[in-house]
Amino acid sequence: MLVVMKNDATEANIQAVIQEIEAMGYQGIPMPGAQRTAVCIVGNQGPVDDSRLLTMAGVKETIRVTKPYKLVSRETHPESTTIEIGDIKIGGEKPVIMAGPCAVESEEQALTIAHIVKKHGALIFRGGAFKPRTSPYSFQGLGEKGLKILKKVREETGLPIVTEALDHTNIDMVEEYADIIQIGARNMQNYSLLRQAGHASKPILLKRGFSATIEELLMSAEYIISEGNNQVILCERGIRTFANNTRNTLDLSAIPSIKEVSHLPVIVDPSHAAGLREYVIPLSKGAIAVGADGLLVEVHHDPPHALSDGMQSLYPEQFEQLMKEIKHLKG
Ligand code: PEP
Ligand code: MN
Repeated sequence: MLVVMKNDATEANIQAVIQEIEAMGYQGIPMPGAQRTAVCIVGNQGPVDDSRLLTMAGVKETIRVTKPYKLVSRETHPESTTIEIGDIKIGGEKPVIMAGPCAVESEEQALTIAHIVKKHGALIFRGGAFKPRTSPYSFQGLGEKGLKILKKVREETGLPIVTEALDHTNIDMVEEYADIIQIGARNMQNYSLLRQAGHASKPILLKRGFSATIEELLMSAEYIISEGNNQVILCERGIRTFANNTRNTLDLSAIPSIKEVSHLPVIVDPSHAAGLREYVIPLSKGAIAVGADGLLVEVHHDPPHALSDGMQSLYPEQFEQLMKEIKHLKG
């Protein structure tokens, strides 16, 4: 349930409502909006008796939230959320392009690619220091050394960094270096990691698991926000289907579906969806056309020698082409 406060409700009115909700045995989470503040009630198993709340000073009305997720729901927060990294707005007017290699391989590699993607208009640099690999024998990332290289990339190029935290042992370290902490597809339902992400001071980029429904993705985002971090960006990166022409099947319907029910920004990763660089430009155009708030794209200066995901990494010229082709598109 949502307790909607009047426009002129004071901070004391809001606090009194939260205390009353706590006295009822639930939790009250304030949701400041452009027009008014609302207090979202979470932790109730069944319907809430709102009779006392409706008599309190500053309370305008109560609204029943019909979805199982509350804090990520558009019912709770009708305006779309924008996440700001410096002067970059994710969920704002323009799609934000995040680009870089699958993995940080060396300082020279990361800096070379960062300069390329920056030159063509990427606003955020991606690159994994901790890599979730299917095989334990594959390159696992440079770990903290990779994070230090990413720090250097930010210092040299000014590009904010998005990089993955793989588990509870490295999320705090990743938080120190990253501007956005990525939680990968394989970890979408790692609830202890999600809870930890909820205590982080940085925005979280939460990727959809490859067999996760939209509702499951939103419930995972709810874990993060319910712990206090309301800066969550969702990412569609392809799901498993019977189709084997691509690595995964990019579910473009996820973007309008999520936007209908949630206020969170949604970006698309066409690289892990396609698995092949030839499909990345058309899928990116499709993603922007259906309303994605940005892209997460793998780019490498020398894809045949990339230590991971070379087949899906764009050559620099292809990234330049991608940026040209999406320039005039807006969902
Ligand atoms: C990545 O973006 O580096 C990655 C590993 O992606 P995913 O979690 O979507 O497989
Ligand atoms: Mn990759």
